[in-house]
Amino acid sequence: MFKRQTSGSVVCVSCGYLVGVKDDRCYHCGRRNPALFGFAPALRSLGHDLGFVPFVTGLCFVMFALTLITGGVRMSGGLLGFLSPSCLSVVRFGGAGALPVFYEGRWWTLLSAGWLHGGLLHIAFNVMWIRQLAPDVGELYGPGRMVIIYTIAGVVGFAASSLAGEYLSFWPPPFGGAGLTVGASAPIFGLMGALVYYGRRTGSRHLHSQAVSMAGMVFIMGLVLPGVDNYAHAGGFLGGYVVADCSIPSSPSRLITSRWRWSCWPYPSSPLWPPLCRPSIPASVATRFSSYA
Ligand SMILES: [Zn+2]
Repeated sequence: MFKRQTSGSVVCVSCGYLVGVKDDRCYHCGRRNPALFGFAPALRSLGHDLGFVPFVTGLCFVMFALTLITGGVRMSGGLLGFLSPSCLSVVRFGGAGALPVFYEGRWWTLLSAGWLHGGLLHIAFNVMWIRQLAPDVGELYGPGRMVIIYTIAGVVGFAASSLAGEYLSFWPPPFGGAGLTVGASAPIFGLMGALVYYGRRTGSRHLHSQAVSMAGMVFIMGLVLPGVDNYAHAGGFLGGYVVADCSIPSSPSRLITSRWRWSCWPYPSSPLWPPLCRPSIPASVATRFSSYA
């Protein structure tokens, strides 16, 4: 199945133009080793995202199951709080926010929080967004760049919400930042930022306006609904936009395909996280906030 091609032409992994399988450099985009030693067709058979979407989906659900199994299940908050892991479990597995990052020095939670979720609907909506956006970003930027955009946007988003949770905690919701936050929407907003950038950079008004209205609409819903981590959204968007600027393929002539499609999912809201119970965290701080990203 994962077969190497040794003759003929293949599609350049960066720009999508046909190149010889033994070419050193793509004549169109200049990429070195455009056929990846003949493995480009096999990688391409995994799809535009190189299997990233099923990987993210699977890992998010595995992590969600582990947080539930090891820490117990909460059923608070009606439908949206259905099947929520305990806060302690979320902290153990790497939730981000002012409390873990600034009070426990767990800076690496900026990387892990995007893989955790606070409820069944929360994970369901986020996974649907990833399945919607990641293949499009993978097709426009290439799968490697898409993974980088996704990862860095998550870090920037959770850094923003953790910083806001630490330094802007005196502001009323929804501007106070997050004490504890999880969810894939920071990287999801990064994917939206990358689409907005692509539309702007290539002059595609259609793509640009759709991506802007999609991101704007979801962001505004986050401002209105309680418990949504808006700093993670804004930071993730900014991170995705900036990384897209640094990493856009050198020949962005490949296109905007008809695969671009979108729909509007109501963004998951949730009741605020209950106070976090860790002895090392002052109770006054622990009751400040928390959010779903
Ligand atoms: Zn090329």
